[in-house]
Amino acid sequence: MPPRFDAPPLDSAARETTDVVIRGARALDPRAGLDGVMDIVLRDGEVAEVGDSPPTPEGAEVVDGDGLVAVPAFVDPHVHLRTPGREDEEDIDSGTRAAAAGGFCAILAQPNTAPVIDNGSILSALRERARHEARIPTGFLAAVTVGQDGDALTEMAELAALGAAGFTDDGRPVARAGILRHALQYQRLAGRLIALHEEDPTLSSDGVMHEGAVSALLGMAGIPSISESTMIARDAQIAQFEDAAIHIQHVSARESVAAVEQAKAAGVAITCEASPHHLCLTDETVRSLDAGFKMNPPLRSEDDRQALIDGLRSGVIDCVATDHAPHARQEKEQPFEVAPMGVTGLETAFSALHTDLVLPGNIDLSLLVERMTAGGAPFGLPVPTLATGSPANVTLLDPSAEWQVGEAGYESRSANCAFAGRNLTGRVRMTIAAGVVAYRERSFAIGAVPA
Ligand SMILES: [Zn+2]
Ligand SMILES: [Zn+2]
Repeated sequence: MPPRFDAPPLDSAARETTDVVIRGARALDPRAGLDGVMDIVLRDGEVAEVGDSPPTPEGAEVVDGDGLVAVPAFVDPHVHLRTPGREDEEDIDSGTRAAAAGGFCAILAQPNTAPVIDNGSILSALRERARHEARIPTGFLAAVTVGQDGDALTEMAELAALGAAGFTDDGRPVARAGILRHALQYQRLAGRLIALHEEDPTLSSDGVMHEGAVSALLGMAGIPSISESTMIARDAQIAQFEDAAIHIQHVSARESVAAVEQAKAAGVAITCEASPHHLCLTDETVRSLDAGFKMNPPLRSEDDRQALIDGLRSGVIDCVATDHAPHARQEKEQPFEVAPMGVTGLETAFSALHTDLVLPGNIDLSLLVERMTAGGAPFGLPVPTLATGSPANVTLLDPSAEWQVGEAGYESRSANCAFAGRNLTGRVRMTIAAGVVAYRERSFAIGAVPA
């Protein structure tokens, strides 16, 4: 049997919980079998009651939920907080503020920082920082290899003991099969999941966008879909051979969805995520030569996008992950070929998917909620729920709110959002993470606030 993982520790600044009563919202939690207009009472950091007109606890804040949808808050397993090293692009405070604004109650941060999170003292210092700055519970992944150079394994067991939430060399693949095999052999000892950015560097080479009709037309070097899918197939076999578990990050191509589906059918302990930008956008956007559409893996074809949507629907794709990747404006404003890869996504994930997938009828809202809450599960984190007695992790959505991305700025320190300027329908109004009001939309009037 592949290993199962205990919940990794998450860190956040200590803040007082608020008792909140959400009156008359549509409570939607597909896993708990909940869908209907009712009242939700949050007390002492827990979901105390869900039902018809329960009494308001003394001193509780009452929120008018008329026309809104209350769902379990989201979990993002793939966020770049750029800390330590590039706090000009994002820091723990701004990144977790952006996450809360996107409806997330927990995130996992990636270790490709400067320096890389590859030893115990760096990890411990970062966790200590999060205990002062993080607005929502945050877990930290550590690197698989020292300096993410793909050679020597980090001290995985020690890092796990110090609270690493998992391991990844994200930003890069673990290119050499033998190194991944060793890492997976250590997995049982470390007791943590290994997440993989899948890319064969000999195939992706110096590509800057998806290899296809648009790259041919623009004369740009392409990254073929097989750069990703062949690595997924390879790593699934290694995981099966070692009876280990792997999580595939940001799948982007039809062939990749097929590779994950085959591995699952063969009994491999494999999970995967897809990003809102890959689910909503295609390489057609790159015709603009706007580096705001440059990321790795690249935006692929409409056919690939349809395969991702099918995978999200069928469950081959387990969860949504933003791969929120802030970059400084002056770096992103370079010509497409030389600009860095990556886009922000925490603040637009729900709205973009709601606008582009739910409203046109590709998936329904309850499925989107399932996939946006499931991101921590592969790593051992509990899935947020509105069930009575659970931790109070609740996001209040306004499904009919229309807004323009970027118009009112961002909580993130960076503005390189792939949806910038887009008019989206659906918005996060309020996020409660572990009983703490982590975000409320500025224009959102709260009902009766007791004296
Ligand atoms: Zn990546
Ligand atoms: Zn990433």
